[in-house]
Amino acid sequence: MERLFSEAAERGSRYLTEAARRRVAPRPEDVAKLEDLGGPLPQNPSDPTAVIAMLDDLGSRATMASTSGRYFGFVTGGALPVTLAANWLAGAWDQNAGLHATSPLGAKIEEIAAQWLCEIFGLPDTCGVGFTTGATMANFTCLAAARHALLKRAGWNVEDDGLFGAPPLTVVVGAEVHVSLLKALSMLGLGRARVITVPADEQGRMKPAHLPALNERTIVCMQAGNVNTGAFDPAAEICARAQQAGAWVHVDGAFGLWAAAAPHRSYLLKGICEADSWGTDCHKWLNVPYDCGVAFVRDAQSLRDAMIISAAYLHTGNKREPAHYSPEASRRARGVEVWAAIRSLGRSGLAELIERNCQLAKRFAQGLRQSGFNVLNDVVLNQVLVSFGSPETTRRVIADVQSEGTCWCGGTEWHGHTAMRISVSCWATTEEDVEASLAAIVRIARRVSISQSPG
Ligand SMILES: *Cc1c(COP(=O)(O)O)cnc(C)c1O
Repeated sequence: MERLFSEAAERGSRYLTEAARRRVAPRPEDVAKLEDLGGPLPQNPSDPTAVIAMLDDLGSRATMASTSGRYFGFVTGGALPVTLAANWLAGAWDQNAGLHATSPLGAKIEEIAAQWLCEIFGLPDTCGVGFTTGATMANFTCLAAARHALLKRAGWNVEDDGLFGAPPLTVVVGAEVHVSLLKALSMLGLGRARVITVPADEQGRMKPAHLPALNERTIVCMQAGNVNTGAFDPAAEICARAQQAGAWVHVDGAFGLWAAAAPHRSYLLKGICEADSWGTDCHKWLNVPYDCGVAFVRDAQSLRDAMIISAAYLHTGNKREPAHYSPEASRRARGVEVWAAIRSLGRSGLAELIERNCQLAKRFAQGLRQSGFNVLNDVVLNQVLVSFGSPETTRRVIADVQSEGTCWCGGTEWHGHTAMRISVSCWATTEEDVEASLAAIVRIARRVSISQSPG
């Protein structure tokens, strides 16, 4: 066993060293070779060491090197080395973190991580906190608590009686709502098309003057961190309006909530702690390995009422049971890597990580503007949108940047423009990474512009 594990660890660390230097997207021929992982169903056992060797030999080269400092796709973050090491140890523990009885360690470390997270985000330490797979499920979990609370007030028990015949709830979202929040609404029976959509401004922020009349059966879903621009819905105004009406405010803060950790960015979140629930991801900006989201609900009882399970064999004492705060029962101990990240970074290290990423996004914007390209958003956080001219030119630049391999950026549509989307959210990204990536993008964009210009 020791040989197996030390070899896996060796292969893993070799991978990380190489991923930091190699091209970011895998070569198409290495992706094609993944077919060799298949073949007929194995009929007989193989040597575990050979299995790991095969996985590394075929798999590693076909990965997207998203742990590298030159990956700027989506908003993903990498994995701080200490969190990966903690993850390996936690893998060895193989704890079922659903119950205190099955993992006192899993339950305790989540409680500690939850307290620390509340303090980082400036949320009440009495919040109910649930660990989920990601922000989709964190939003789902928070909205289940909202659904419970609002219907309970109306005299309806949604967990017992479902939604058929229930008093209707109104859900309000911004025009720039994330698709995964709509998915959460669809899974909760609240309907993704049944929402009232509030128009957004040129940065994608909800316009509070356009909020509909709110009441005690309304859930307002606002966003902290737009996936294109990084912009924040104005929390102070939205929360004040909602509080007067007795409405519930939920915040999708998948990555934007982390701005609270950086003193120079926290102005973006003004008023956010007046909301009722908040969903975020740790696998994005905290840079822990997949997968880890967190749901925070001010009224912990509503979260418990929405999530609690009971059976004689699950009979528990008065300790916090992780499974009473999130949808899953059996699951991995997600608190471990969160604990390791915060223990290792400390408040100042986390602030430095977030701020450095934001500064590097600014550097991208500045370099692209200086080269004559059109940056489409106010770079207030870690997101940069850039157009290289016509939609075809921009799409061509994105495709060529991805295949050239120095860095990896995705594409998007923003208010009628086709744009390249740059997200700086990895702990590993350095100034050198940004300069090398900028140089590659500018070089490719100039070449594409020349080849596409008439004559
Ligand atoms: C990433 C993201 C989500 C979904 O998060 P997952 O972890 O992929 O489930 C939701 N909302 C926003 C704003 C996001 O950036």
